[in-house]
Amino acid sequence: MTDHSHTFQTKLLHNKHKADEETGAVSVPIHHASTFHQTDFDQPGRYDYSRSGNPTREALETTIANLESGFRGFAFASGMAAISTSFMLLSQRDHVLVSEDVYGGTYRMIHDVLIRFGIEHTFVDMTNLEEVATAIQPNTKVIYIETPSNPLLKITDIQAVVKLAKANECLTFVDNTFMTPALQRPLEFGADIVLHSATKFIAGHSDVVAGLAVVRNEQLAEKLSFLQNSFGSILSPHDSWLVLRGLKTLHCRLEQSSRSAFRLAHALAKEPIIEEVYYPGFSFHPGHSTHLYQAGGPGAVLSFRLPDENAVRFFTKHVQLPVYAVSLGAVESILSYPAKMSHASMPSEERKKRGITDGLLRISVGLENADDLLQDFQNALAAIKRYDTPTRGLQV
Ligand SMILES: *Cc1c(COP(=O)(O)O)cnc(C)c1O
Repeated sequence: MTDHSHTFQTKLLHNKHKADEETGAVSVPIHHASTFHQTDFDQPGRYDYSRSGNPTREALETTIANLESGFRGFAFASGMAAISTSFMLLSQRDHVLVSEDVYGGTYRMIHDVLIRFGIEHTFVDMTNLEEVATAIQPNTKVIYIETPSNPLLKITDIQAVVKLAKANECLTFVDNTFMTPALQRPLEFGADIVLHSATKFIAGHSDVVAGLAVVRNEQLAEKLSFLQNSFGSILSPHDSWLVLRGLKTLHCRLEQSSRSAFRLAHALAKEPIIEEVYYPGFSFHPGHSTHLYQAGGPGAVLSFRLPDENAVRFFTKHVQLPVYAVSLGAVESILSYPAKMSHASMPSEERKKRGITDGLLRISVGLENADDLLQDFQNALAAIKRYDTPTRGLQV
């Protein structure tokens, strides 16, 4: 049914699950069943128990595998469940190399949990290939990338890291949450496992927590399937359906949000009170050309640095359109404060070392009218300036 020459945009809608084979229903049926009747003692049916396999979850799993150009997909109860279960591929005394500005929850899993099971780690600046090469040890089994990284939007060269990994018999895991397969497909550059917090752009409506993993080959598929069933942190049928529904509009949501993010990034860069804007769409961003080589666009997330915590306090008090919350990748713009939100689980010195200072804000641009958003931001920045005194004695 699927014509492989179709573009990504069309593939989101016209796939194997376009119409239910049995009824013609154009929305995937939600199979709440926990168990499946077996008609033949000698020949087990396709499904037996929903932890091991569920038709609605499987519809999502085959859809994401197809979109990521992978061999097989897996849906989990959260992005962290997908990430943590994938780390279970490692064994005691194995070592993992990780981007130093990795998502806070992933940092916590590696730094506070895996270590208790004897799995070692080194945090590196993944944009510095020499540093990566030097940090690889004889027991390194996984190189873990996030690109663009969170919240400083640093760019890692996926192909170059994969090359280093392969030369050292390591697997490459890529957290592709910020880009989604609409903009970046790491398996096509040789990565082994792609991970997603589907909570973000993929589902896109701030109404479901979900995770996805896609593997490049059958061998990894068997191992991860075994772990998914053993660990059991699967995505429910209803939540699988919500993610499938969100996916249908992924392309147009991301396209509009990215366009507005481009305008917002350029407008913010002109504001004297903003010390720095982090956005891979700037031609002077150090990772710009690498990013454009491996991704279809800069995406809809950017960060900017205000002078200090008080300026942030004023800004968040006066900005009206974005919700002020953790998370990203939704229909509504989401403003978050990494130091106190996504990276709160990281010790303060570690945060500062990584550039996540108390003045840093991250904005995930949603589907509001871009002019409205720009105006709203300019109003909030003007409010900071009104209260700003030469001694920066800001008071709320
Ligand atoms: C949110 C997020 C996660 C964790 O996903 P959950 O669905 O919240 O468990 C992992 N990586 C990145 C980049 C994220 O933004």
